[in-house]
Amino acid sequence: MKLKVLGAAGEVTGSNYLLEVGSSRVLIDCGLHQGKDEEKRNREPFQFTPTSINAVLLTHAHIDHSGRIPLLYKEGFKGQVFATLPTVQLTEVLWRDSAHLMKEEAEWKTRKNARKGLPAVGPLFDEGNVEEAIRFLSPVSYDDVIDVVPGIKARFRDAGHILGSAILELFLNDGNKEVKVVLSGDLGPQKPVMGRNPAFIEDADFVVIESTYGDRSHRGNEETRQEFRDVITEALKTRSKVMIPTFVVDRAQRILYELMLMQKEGIMKDHVPIYFDSPMGVKATDIYTEYPSLFSTEVQGHIRSGDTPLCPENLHFVEKADDSRAINNVDHAVILAGSGMCSGGRIVHHLKHGIWNEKNHLVFVGYQAHGTLGRRIVEGVKTIRMAGEEVSVKAHIHTINGFSAHADREDLLAWASNFKTNPKFFITHGEPRSSKALSESLQSQGFETFVPRVNQEFDLYPGLEEVTREKIIPVSPVSRETEISMLLTDISDLAEGLRYREEDFEEHDEILSLLNSTKLLLETAQAKVGQKTEVK
Ligand SMILES: [Zn+2]
Ligand SMILES: [Zn+2]
Repeated sequence: MKLKVLGAAGEVTGSNYLLEVGSSRVLIDCGLHQGKDEEKRNREPFQFTPTSINAVLLTHAHIDHSGRIPLLYKEGFKGQVFATLPTVQLTEVLWRDSAHLMKEEAEWKTRKNARKGLPAVGPLFDEGNVEEAIRFLSPVSYDDVIDVVPGIKARFRDAGHILGSAILELFLNDGNKEVKVVLSGDLGPQKPVMGRNPAFIEDADFVVIESTYGDRSHRGNEETRQEFRDVITEALKTRSKVMIPTFVVDRAQRILYELMLMQKEGIMKDHVPIYFDSPMGVKATDIYTEYPSLFSTEVQGHIRSGDTPLCPENLHFVEKADDSRAINNVDHAVILAGSGMCSGGRIVHHLKHGIWNEKNHLVFVGYQAHGTLGRRIVEGVKTIRMAGEEVSVKAHIHTINGFSAHADREDLLAWASNFKTNPKFFITHGEPRSSKALSESLQSQGFETFVPRVNQEFDLYPGLEEVTREKIIPVSPVSRETEISMLLTDISDLAEGLRYREEDFEEHDEILSLLNSTKLLLETAQAKVGQKTEVK
Protein backbone atom coordinates (compact mmCIF):
# COMPACT_ATOMS: atom_id res chain seq x y z
CA MET A 1 0.00 0.00 0.00
CA LYS A 2 1.54 3.20 -1.17
CA LEU A 3 0.66 6.85 -1.27
CA LYS A 4 2.56 9.06 -3.63
CA VAL A 5 2.28 12.83 -3.38
CA LEU A 6 2.43 14.17 -6.94
CA GLY A 7 1.38 17.77 -6.50
CA ALA A 8 0.42 20.53 -4.05
CA ALA A 9 3.50 19.81 -1.92
CA GLY A 10 5.21 23.03 -0.87
CA GLU A 11 2.52 24.93 -2.78
CA VAL A 12 -1.26 25.14 -2.96
CA THR A 13 -2.05 24.20 -6.54
CA GLY A 14 -1.73 21.08 -8.66
CA SER A 15 -3.26 18.64 -6.14
CA ASN A 16 -2.58 15.06 -7.16
CA TYR A 17 -2.05 11.82 -5.24
CA LEU A 18 -1.56 8.26 -6.38
CA LEU A 19 -2.80 5.48 -4.16
CA GLU A 20 -1.70 1.90 -4.78
CA VAL A 21 -3.20 -1.11 -3.07
CA GLY A 22 -2.14 -4.46 -4.52
CA SER A 23 -2.64 -4.06 -8.25
CA SER A 24 -5.23 -1.28 -7.86
CA ARG A 25 -4.14 2.23 -8.74
CA VAL A 26 -6.35 5.19 -7.93
CA LEU A 27 -5.69 8.89 -8.34
CA ILE A 28 -7.00 11.41 -5.88
CA ASP A 29 -7.51 14.77 -7.59
CA CYS A 30 -5.55 15.74 -10.67
CA GLY A 31 -5.38 19.50 -10.67
CA LEU A 32 -3.83 22.24 -12.73
CA HIS A 33 -0.82 24.15 -11.50
CA GLN A 34 -1.56 27.85 -11.21
CA GLY A 35 0.69 30.85 -10.86
CA LYS A 36 4.35 30.83 -11.75
CA ASP A 37 5.42 28.65 -14.72
CA GLU A 38 1.94 27.14 -14.86
CA GLU A 39 1.99 26.65 -18.61
CA LYS A 40 5.24 24.71 -18.51
CA ARG A 41 4.34 22.65 -15.45
CA ASN A 42 0.90 21.67 -16.69
CA ARG A 43 2.48 20.32 -19.86
CA GLU A 44 5.01 18.19 -18.00
CA PRO A 45 4.29 14.48 -18.48
CA PHE A 46 2.42 12.65 -15.73
CA GLN A 47 4.54 10.68 -13.25
CA PHE A 48 2.42 7.60 -14.07
CA THR A 49 0.93 6.00 -17.15
CA PRO A 50 -2.67 7.25 -17.39
CA THR A 51 -3.87 3.94 -18.85
CA SER A 52 -2.59 2.14 -15.73
CA ILE A 53 -4.98 4.09 -13.48
CA ASN A 54 -8.25 2.39 -12.51
CA ALA A 55 -10.25 5.35 -11.20
CA VAL A 56 -10.08 8.91 -9.91
CA LEU A 57 -11.56 10.26 -6.68
CA LEU A 58 -12.22 13.98 -6.91
CA THR A 59 -12.50 15.99 -3.69
CA HIS A 60 -14.03 19.11 -5.24
CA ALA A 61 -14.51 21.06 -8.43
CA HIS A 62 -11.79 23.70 -8.08
CA ILE A 63 -9.59 23.59 -11.14
CA ASP A 64 -6.37 23.16 -9.14
CA HIS A 65 -7.88 19.84 -8.00
CA SER A 66 -9.80 18.77 -11.13
CA GLY A 67 -8.22 20.62 -14.05
CA ARG A 68 -5.84 18.00 -15.45
CA ILE A 69 -8.41 15.17 -15.45
CA PRO A 70 -9.43 15.82 -19.11
CA LEU A 71 -5.75 15.44 -19.97
CA LEU A 72 -5.88 11.91 -18.52
CA TYR A 73 -8.56 11.04 -21.10
CA LYS A 74 -6.52 12.64 -23.85
CA GLU A 75 -3.76 10.22 -22.87
CA GLY A 76 -5.94 7.14 -22.90
CA PHE A 77 -7.43 6.84 -19.41
CA LYS A 78 -10.87 5.17 -19.48
CA GLY A 79 -11.87 4.92 -15.82
CA GLN A 80 -14.56 6.59 -13.75
CA VAL A 81 -14.17 9.83 -11.81
CA PHE A 82 -16.09 9.66 -8.54
CA ALA A 83 -17.32 12.88 -6.95
CA THR A 84 -20.42 14.20 -5.20
CA LEU A 85 -23.25 15.34 -7.49
CA PRO A 86 -22.75 19.09 -6.90
CA THR A 87 -19.03 18.57 -7.63
CA VAL A 88 -19.92 16.72 -10.84
CA GLN A 89 -22.15 19.60 -11.93
CA LEU A 90 -19.68 22.35 -11.02
CA THR A 91 -16.78 20.45 -12.59
CA GLU A 92 -18.62 20.25 -15.91
CA VAL A 93 -18.99 24.02 -15.91
CA LEU A 94 -15.37 24.66 -14.91
CA TRP A 95 -13.91 22.19 -17.40
CA ARG A 96 -15.89 23.58 -20.34
CA ASP A 97 -14.76 27.07 -19.42
CA SER A 98 -11.20 25.89 -19.04
CA ALA A 99 -11.16 24.19 -22.48
CA HIS A 100 -12.59 27.34 -24.00
CA LEU A 101 -9.88 29.52 -22.41
CA MET A 102 -7.13 27.13 -23.46
CA LYS A 103 -8.41 27.16 -27.04
CA GLU A 104 -8.44 30.96 -27.15
CA GLU A 105 -4.98 31.17 -25.67
CA ALA A 106 -3.54 28.60 -28.06
CA GLU A 107 -5.04 30.45 -31.02
CA TRP A 108 -3.59 33.72 -29.78
CA LYS A 109 -0.15 32.17 -29.31
CA THR A 110 -0.32 30.50 -32.70
CA ARG A 111 -1.04 33.85 -34.38
CA LYS A 112 1.83 35.43 -32.47
CA ASN A 113 4.18 32.58 -33.38
CA ALA A 114 3.17 32.68 -37.04
CA ARG A 115 4.40 36.27 -37.28
CA LYS A 116 7.79 35.11 -35.99
CA GLY A 117 7.89 32.04 -38.19
CA LEU A 118 7.43 29.74 -35.19
CA PRO A 119 5.21 26.61 -35.09
CA ALA A 120 1.56 26.53 -34.02
CA VAL A 121 0.64 25.88 -30.37
CA GLY A 122 -2.08 23.41 -29.39
CA PRO A 123 -4.15 23.64 -26.21
CA LEU A 124 -3.34 21.36 -23.25
CA PHE A 125 -6.61 19.56 -24.03
CA ASP A 126 -9.64 20.35 -26.12
CA GLU A 127 -13.42 20.36 -25.85
CA GLY A 128 -13.54 16.75 -27.08
CA ASN A 129 -11.35 15.58 -24.18
CA VAL A 130 -13.58 17.51 -21.77
CA GLU A 131 -16.79 16.00 -23.15
CA GLU A 132 -15.27 12.53 -22.86
CA ALA A 133 -14.18 13.20 -19.28
CA ILE A 134 -17.67 14.49 -18.43
CA ARG A 135 -19.18 11.19 -19.58
CA PHE A 136 -17.07 9.40 -16.96
CA LEU A 137 -18.02 11.66 -14.04
CA SER A 138 -19.89 9.42 -11.59
CA PRO A 139 -21.86 10.98 -8.74
CA VAL A 140 -21.68 9.55 -5.24
CA SER A 141 -23.75 10.54 -2.26
CA TYR A 142 -22.16 11.99 0.86
CA ASP A 143 -21.65 9.43 3.66
CA ASP A 144 -22.17 6.28 1.59
CA VAL A 145 -19.31 3.80 1.48
CA ILE A 146 -18.50 2.96 -2.14
CA ASP A 147 -16.37 0.21 -3.64
CA VAL A 148 -13.93 2.04 -5.86
CA VAL A 149 -11.69 -0.83 -6.98
CA PRO A 150 -10.59 -4.07 -5.29
CA GLY A 151 -8.89 -3.10 -2.04
CA ILE A 152 -10.11 0.49 -1.93
CA LYS A 153 -13.40 1.70 -0.50
CA ALA A 154 -14.18 5.38 -0.08
CA ARG A 155 -16.62 7.56 1.81
CA PHE A 156 -17.15 11.20 0.81
CA ARG A 157 -17.83 13.47 3.80
CA ASP A 158 -18.73 17.17 3.65
CA ALA A 159 -15.55 19.29 3.82
CA GLY A 160 -17.47 22.57 4.08
CA HIS A 161 -15.10 24.23 1.62
CA ILE A 162 -17.25 24.86 -1.47
CA LEU A 163 -20.51 23.27 -2.58
CA GLY A 164 -19.98 19.52 -3.00
CA SER A 165 -16.49 19.51 -1.50
CA ALA A 166 -15.45 16.35 0.27
CA ILE A 167 -13.08 14.90 2.80
CA LEU A 168 -12.23 11.36 1.74
CA GLU A 169 -12.24 8.45 4.13
CA LEU A 170 -10.29 5.70 2.39
CA PHE A 171 -10.52 2.12 3.60
CA LEU A 172 -7.62 0.13 2.21
CA ASN A 173 -7.18 -3.63 2.33
CA ASP A 174 -4.44 -5.51 0.47
CA GLY A 175 -5.49 -8.91 1.77
CA ASN A 176 -2.96 -8.85 4.62
CA LYS A 177 -3.65 -5.63 6.39
CA GLU A 178 -6.20 -2.85 6.68
CA VAL A 179 -5.31 0.81 6.73
CA LYS A 180 -7.53 3.84 6.94
CA VAL A 181 -6.38 7.07 5.32
CA VAL A 182 -8.32 10.29 5.67
CA LEU A 183 -7.62 12.96 3.10
CA SER A 184 -8.91 16.36 4.10
CA GLY A 185 -9.14 17.82 0.59
CA ASP A 186 -9.60 21.54 1.04
CA LEU A 187 -11.19 22.09 4.43
CA GLY A 188 -13.73 24.77 5.23
CA PRO A 189 -13.74 26.80 8.43
CA GLN A 190 -15.22 25.48 11.66
CA LYS A 191 -17.81 28.26 11.74
CA PRO A 192 -18.94 28.50 8.13
CA VAL A 193 -21.24 31.24 6.87
CA MET A 194 -22.45 29.64 3.63
CA GLY A 195 -21.81 25.92 3.90
CA ARG A 196 -21.73 23.29 6.61
CA ASN A 197 -19.08 22.32 9.16
CA PRO A 198 -16.35 19.99 7.95
CA ALA A 199 -17.35 16.47 9.01
CA PHE A 200 -15.98 15.23 12.35
CA ILE A 201 -13.85 12.15 11.84
CA GLU A 202 -12.37 10.37 14.80
CA ASP A 203 -10.33 7.48 13.46
CA ALA A 204 -7.56 7.05 10.93
CA ASP A 205 -4.08 5.58 10.62
CA PHE A 206 -2.94 8.40 8.35
CA VAL A 207 -4.35 11.84 7.69
CA VAL A 208 -3.39 13.98 4.73
CA ILE A 209 -4.23 17.52 5.73
CA GLU A 210 -4.17 20.75 3.74
CA SER A 211 -2.25 23.71 5.15
CA THR A 212 -3.14 26.72 2.98
CA TYR A 213 -3.47 28.83 6.11
CA GLY A 214 -1.40 26.69 8.45
CA ASP A 215 0.36 29.81 9.72
CA ARG A 216 -2.51 32.29 9.69
CA SER A 217 -5.67 33.14 11.55
CA HIS A 218 -8.58 34.69 9.74
CA ARG A 219 -10.56 37.53 11.15
CA GLY A 220 -13.82 36.41 12.72
CA ASN A 221 -17.00 36.20 10.63
CA GLU A 222 -18.57 39.26 12.20
CA GLU A 223 -15.40 41.34 11.91
CA THR A 224 -15.00 40.34 8.25
CA ARG A 225 -18.62 41.12 7.53
CA GLN A 226 -18.20 44.54 9.14
CA GLU A 227 -14.99 45.19 7.24
CA PHE A 228 -16.68 44.37 3.95
CA ARG A 229 -19.67 46.55 4.82
CA ASP A 230 -17.41 49.48 5.73
CA VAL A 231 -15.48 49.23 2.47
CA ILE A 232 -18.62 48.98 0.33
CA THR A 233 -20.43 51.75 2.20
CA GLU A 234 -17.42 54.05 1.90
CA ALA A 235 -16.92 53.27 -1.77
CA LEU A 236 -20.55 53.78 -2.66
CA LYS A 237 -20.61 57.19 -0.91
CA THR A 238 -18.51 58.69 -3.69
CA ARG A 239 -20.65 57.00 -6.35
CA SER A 240 -17.58 55.21 -7.64
CA LYS A 241 -16.97 51.90 -9.32
CA VAL A 242 -16.26 48.99 -7.00
CA MET A 243 -14.43 46.13 -8.69
CA ILE A 244 -14.34 42.79 -6.95
CA PRO A 245 -12.09 40.17 -8.56
CA THR A 246 -13.48 36.90 -7.38
CA PHE A 247 -13.52 33.21 -8.01
CA VAL A 248 -16.88 32.83 -9.64
CA VAL A 249 -17.62 29.59 -7.87
CA ASP A 250 -18.33 29.95 -4.16
CA ARG A 251 -16.66 33.27 -3.30
CA ALA A 252 -18.87 35.20 -5.71
CA GLN A 253 -21.98 33.55 -4.25
CA ARG A 254 -20.79 34.52 -0.77
CA ILE A 255 -20.35 38.15 -1.88
CA LEU A 256 -23.81 38.16 -3.46
CA TYR A 257 -25.17 36.88 -0.16
CA GLU A 258 -23.37 39.64 1.80
CA LEU A 259 -24.77 42.28 -0.58
CA MET A 260 -28.27 40.83 -0.18
CA LEU A 261 -27.89 41.08 3.62
CA MET A 262 -26.70 44.70 3.36
CA GLN A 263 -29.78 45.59 1.32
CA LYS A 264 -32.10 43.69 3.63
CA GLU A 265 -30.68 45.36 6.72
CA GLY A 266 -30.94 48.79 5.09
CA ILE A 267 -27.16 49.34 5.10
CA MET A 268 -27.04 49.55 1.32
CA LYS A 269 -29.74 52.07 0.46
CA ASP A 270 -28.08 53.09 -2.77
CA HIS A 271 -29.76 51.42 -5.77
CA VAL A 272 -26.39 50.82 -7.32
CA PRO A 273 -26.42 48.19 -10.07
CA ILE A 274 -24.56 44.99 -9.22
CA TYR A 275 -23.03 43.19 -12.18
CA PHE A 276 -22.01 39.58 -11.89
CA ASP A 277 -19.98 39.50 -15.06
CA SER A 278 -19.40 35.83 -15.72
CA PRO A 279 -21.30 33.29 -17.84
CA MET A 280 -19.70 30.58 -15.72
CA GLY A 281 -20.73 32.36 -12.54
CA VAL A 282 -24.36 32.37 -13.66
CA LYS A 283 -24.30 28.60 -14.13
CA ALA A 284 -22.51 28.06 -10.81
CA THR A 285 -25.07 30.21 -8.98
CA ASP A 286 -27.88 28.09 -10.45
CA ILE A 287 -26.19 24.93 -9.18
CA TYR A 288 -25.78 26.44 -5.69
CA THR A 289 -29.49 27.22 -5.50
CA GLU A 290 -30.29 23.57 -6.28
CA TYR A 291 -28.88 22.43 -2.92
CA PRO A 292 -30.51 24.39 -0.08
CA SER A 293 -29.89 21.51 2.32
CA LEU A 294 -26.12 21.94 1.91
CA PHE A 295 -26.26 25.58 3.06
CA SER A 296 -25.48 26.72 6.59
CA THR A 297 -28.17 27.13 9.23
CA GLU A 298 -27.95 30.90 8.72
CA VAL A 299 -28.59 30.78 4.97
CA GLN A 300 -31.34 28.15 5.37
CA GLY A 301 -33.08 30.54 7.76
CA HIS A 302 -33.12 33.23 5.09
CA ILE A 303 -34.47 30.82 2.48
CA ARG A 304 -37.21 29.80 4.90
CA SER A 305 -38.20 33.43 5.42
CA GLY A 306 -38.55 34.03 1.70
CA ASP A 307 -35.21 35.73 0.90
CA THR A 308 -33.17 34.91 -2.16
CA PRO A 309 -29.71 34.70 -0.57
CA LEU A 310 -27.76 34.58 -3.84
CA CYS A 311 -29.78 37.18 -5.67
CA PRO A 312 -29.60 40.71 -4.22
CA GLU A 313 -31.77 43.42 -5.78
CA ASN A 314 -30.47 45.22 -8.90
CA LEU A 315 -28.32 42.20 -9.74
CA HIS A 316 -27.52 41.79 -13.42
CA PHE A 317 -26.04 38.53 -14.59
CA VAL A 318 -23.83 39.37 -17.56
CA GLU A 319 -23.25 36.63 -20.11
CA LYS A 320 -22.53 38.29 -23.47
CA ALA A 321 -19.11 39.86 -24.09
CA ASP A 322 -20.74 43.00 -25.55
CA ASP A 323 -22.73 43.53 -22.36
CA SER A 324 -19.55 43.06 -20.36
CA ARG A 325 -17.74 45.74 -22.36
CA ALA A 326 -20.72 48.09 -21.98
CA ILE A 327 -20.04 48.18 -18.21
CA ASN A 328 -16.82 50.10 -18.99
CA ASN A 329 -19.00 53.18 -19.55
CA VAL A 330 -20.76 52.87 -16.18
CA ASP A 331 -19.28 55.10 -13.43
CA HIS A 332 -21.17 53.82 -10.45
CA ALA A 333 -21.54 50.08 -10.00
CA VAL A 334 -20.43 47.03 -8.10
CA ILE A 335 -18.73 44.58 -10.46
CA LEU A 336 -17.97 40.97 -9.62
CA ALA A 337 -15.84 39.18 -12.19
CA GLY A 338 -13.23 36.44 -12.50
CA SER A 339 -10.54 35.48 -12.32
CA GLY A 340 -10.10 35.87 -8.60
CA MET A 341 -6.37 36.52 -8.90
CA CYS A 342 -6.72 38.82 -11.96
CA SER A 343 -4.66 36.43 -14.05
CA GLY A 344 -7.24 36.47 -16.83
CA GLY A 345 -10.97 36.65 -17.39
CA ARG A 346 -13.26 39.64 -17.61
CA ILE A 347 -11.89 41.36 -14.52
CA VAL A 348 -8.86 42.29 -16.64
CA HIS A 349 -10.75 44.71 -18.87
CA HIS A 350 -12.59 46.16 -15.88
CA LEU A 351 -9.24 46.82 -14.21
CA LYS A 352 -7.88 48.39 -17.36
CA HIS A 353 -10.81 50.79 -17.46
CA GLY A 354 -11.03 51.45 -13.76
CA ILE A 355 -7.82 50.90 -11.81
CA TRP A 356 -6.19 54.16 -13.03
CA ASN A 357 -8.98 56.23 -11.50
CA GLU A 358 -8.35 57.22 -7.87
CA LYS A 359 -12.07 57.50 -7.29
CA ASN A 360 -12.58 53.76 -7.79
CA HIS A 361 -12.14 50.87 -5.42
CA LEU A 362 -10.68 47.44 -5.94
CA VAL A 363 -11.66 44.93 -3.29
CA PHE A 364 -9.79 41.63 -3.04
CA VAL A 365 -11.87 39.01 -1.30
CA GLY A 366 -9.70 35.96 -1.86
CA TYR A 367 -6.24 34.43 -1.71
CA GLN A 368 -3.68 35.92 -4.14
CA ALA A 369 -0.99 33.38 -5.08
CA HIS A 370 2.64 34.28 -5.73
CA GLY A 371 3.28 35.38 -9.28
CA THR A 372 -0.27 36.53 -10.06
CA LEU A 373 -1.29 40.05 -11.03
CA GLY A 374 -3.57 40.17 -7.99
CA ARG A 375 -0.64 39.48 -5.68
CA ARG A 376 1.41 42.24 -7.29
CA ILE A 377 -1.40 44.75 -6.91
CA VAL A 378 -1.88 43.77 -3.25
CA GLU A 379 1.86 44.20 -2.75
CA GLY A 380 1.53 47.75 -4.01
CA VAL A 381 2.86 47.95 -7.58
CA LYS A 382 2.44 51.43 -9.04
CA THR A 383 1.80 50.42 -12.64
CA ILE A 384 0.70 47.28 -14.39
CA ARG A 385 0.93 46.16 -17.99
CA MET A 386 -2.38 45.14 -19.47
CA ALA A 387 -2.94 44.14 -23.08
CA GLY A 388 0.27 45.90 -24.11
CA GLU A 389 -0.59 49.07 -22.25
CA GLU A 390 0.98 50.59 -19.14
CA VAL A 391 -1.81 51.38 -16.65
CA SER A 392 -1.18 53.19 -13.38
CA VAL A 393 -2.67 51.83 -10.17
CA LYS A 394 -4.51 54.69 -8.49
CA ALA A 395 -7.74 53.11 -7.26
CA HIS A 396 -8.15 52.36 -3.54
CA ILE A 397 -7.01 48.79 -2.92
CA HIS A 398 -8.63 46.76 -0.15
CA THR A 399 -7.89 43.24 0.94
CA ILE A 400 -10.45 41.37 2.96
CA ASN A 401 -8.91 38.08 3.99
CA GLY A 402 -11.57 36.71 6.31
CA PHE A 403 -13.83 35.46 3.51
CA SER A 404 -11.69 32.44 2.95
CA ALA A 405 -13.44 29.16 2.23
CA HIS A 406 -10.38 27.56 3.84
CA ALA A 407 -9.88 26.62 7.45
CA ASP A 408 -7.38 28.85 9.21
CA ARG A 409 -4.71 27.68 11.65
CA GLU A 410 -7.14 27.23 14.55
CA ASP A 411 -9.74 25.54 12.36
CA LEU A 412 -7.17 23.06 11.04
CA LEU A 413 -5.99 22.25 14.54
CA ALA A 414 -9.57 21.89 15.80
CA TRP A 415 -10.41 19.48 12.97
CA ALA A 416 -7.18 17.51 13.51
CA SER A 417 -7.82 17.22 17.23
CA ASN A 418 -11.04 15.26 16.54
CA PHE A 419 -8.89 12.21 15.78
CA LYS A 420 -8.76 9.86 18.72
CA THR A 421 -6.48 7.21 17.22
CA ASN A 422 -3.22 9.17 17.10
CA PRO A 423 -2.79 9.13 13.31
CA LYS A 424 0.32 10.30 11.48
CA PHE A 425 -0.22 13.51 9.54
CA PHE A 426 1.02 14.29 6.05
CA ILE A 427 0.90 18.03 5.55
CA THR A 428 0.30 19.19 2.00
CA HIS A 429 -1.39 21.96 0.01
CA GLY A 430 0.45 24.92 1.50
CA GLU A 431 3.38 27.19 0.84
CA PRO A 432 6.44 25.81 2.69
CA ARG A 433 6.11 28.21 5.58
CA SER A 434 2.44 27.37 6.20
CA SER A 435 3.03 23.62 6.02
CA LYS A 436 5.96 23.91 8.41
CA ALA A 437 3.94 26.01 10.86
CA LEU A 438 1.05 23.53 10.86
CA SER A 439 3.51 20.67 11.24
CA GLU A 440 5.00 22.29 14.34
CA SER A 441 1.58 23.04 15.83
CA LEU A 442 0.47 19.43 15.32
CA GLN A 443 3.70 18.14 16.82
CA SER A 444 3.14 20.27 19.88
CA GLN A 445 -0.22 18.51 20.22
CA GLY A 446 1.64 15.21 20.22
CA PHE A 447 1.04 14.13 16.62
CA GLU A 448 3.74 12.82 14.37
CA THR A 449 3.94 14.78 11.14
CA PHE A 450 5.55 14.64 7.70
CA VAL A 451 5.81 17.44 5.18
CA PRO A 452 6.18 15.59 1.87
CA ARG A 453 8.17 16.85 -1.06
CA VAL A 454 6.64 16.50 -4.47
CA ASN A 455 6.96 12.97 -5.93
CA GLN A 456 7.69 11.47 -2.52
CA GLU A 457 6.21 8.05 -1.91
CA PHE A 458 5.17 6.48 1.40
CA ASP A 459 4.52 2.92 2.42
CA LEU A 460 1.37 2.75 4.49
CA TYR A 461 1.60 0.26 7.34
CA PRO A 462 -0.99 -0.13 10.04
CA GLY A 463 1.75 -0.34 12.67
CA LEU A 464 3.22 2.88 11.32
CA GLU A 465 6.74 2.31 12.61
CA GLU A 466 8.23 1.67 9.19
CA VAL A 467 7.16 4.98 7.81
CA THR A 468 8.95 6.86 10.56
CA ARG A 469 12.20 6.05 8.78
CA GLU A 470 11.25 9.03 6.67
CA LYS A 471 10.83 11.09 9.84
CA ILE A 472 10.49 14.80 9.33
CA ILE A 473 11.08 15.62 5.74
CA PRO A 474 12.89 18.90 5.09
CA VAL A 475 10.69 21.57 3.60
CA SER A 476 11.57 22.28 -0.01
CA PRO A 477 13.82 25.31 -0.43
CA VAL A 478 12.15 28.60 -1.19
CA SER A 479 13.42 30.82 -4.00
CA ARG A 480 14.67 34.28 -3.10
CA GLU A 481 11.84 35.82 -5.06
CA THR A 482 9.25 33.83 -3.14
CA GLU A 483 10.91 34.68 0.13
CA ILE A 484 10.84 38.41 -0.59
CA SER A 485 7.30 38.14 -1.80
CA MET A 486 6.34 36.37 1.46
CA LEU A 487 8.03 39.05 3.53
CA LEU A 488 6.15 41.71 1.61
CA THR A 489 2.88 39.96 2.33
CA ASP A 490 3.77 39.84 6.02
CA ILE A 491 4.58 43.52 6.08
CA SER A 492 1.38 44.39 4.24
CA ASP A 493 -0.60 42.27 6.71
CA LEU A 494 1.13 43.92 9.62
CA ALA A 495 0.49 47.40 8.25
CA GLU A 496 -3.11 46.51 7.56
CA GLY A 497 -3.53 45.18 11.07
CA LEU A 498 -2.09 48.41 12.45
CA ARG A 499 -4.38 50.58 10.39
CA TYR A 500 -7.25 48.57 11.75
CA ARG A 501 -6.15 49.26 15.33
CA GLU A 502 -5.64 52.97 14.83
CA GLU A 503 -6.84 54.08 18.26
CA ASP A 504 -4.72 51.59 20.21
CA PHE A 505 -1.36 53.35 20.64
CA GLU A 506 0.57 56.52 19.95
CA GLU A 507 3.57 55.33 17.91
CA HIS A 508 1.16 53.96 15.36
CA ASP A 509 2.00 56.45 12.58
CA GLU A 510 5.72 56.12 13.12
CA ILE A 511 5.59 52.32 12.90
CA LEU A 512 3.40 52.48 9.82
CA SER A 513 5.89 54.71 8.08
CA LEU A 514 8.76 52.41 9.09
CA LEU A 515 6.85 49.47 7.67
CA ASN A 516 6.28 51.38 4.44
CA SER A 517 10.00 52.15 4.14
CA THR A 518 10.83 48.49 4.69
CA LYS A 519 8.30 47.60 2.06
CA LEU A 520 9.90 50.02 -0.39
CA LEU A 521 13.35 48.53 0.21
CA LEU A 522 12.05 45.01 -0.27
CA GLU A 523 10.29 46.02 -3.45
CA THR A 524 13.56 47.36 -4.79
CA ALA A 525 15.24 44.09 -3.85
CA GLN A 526 12.40 42.19 -5.48
CA ALA A 527 12.81 44.13 -8.72
CA LYS A 528 16.56 43.44 -8.67
CA VAL A 529 16.10 39.71 -8.07
CA GLY A 530 13.43 39.70 -10.80
CA GLN A 531 15.84 41.30 -13.29
CA LYS A 532 18.52 38.77 -12.43
CA THR A 533 16.16 35.86 -12.94
CA GLU A 534 15.09 37.31 -16.29
CA VAL A 535 18.68 37.55 -17.49
CA LYS A 536 19.26 33.87 -16.67
ZN1 LIG B 1 -10.48 24.37 -3.23
ZN1 LIG C 1 -7.10 23.55 -3.05
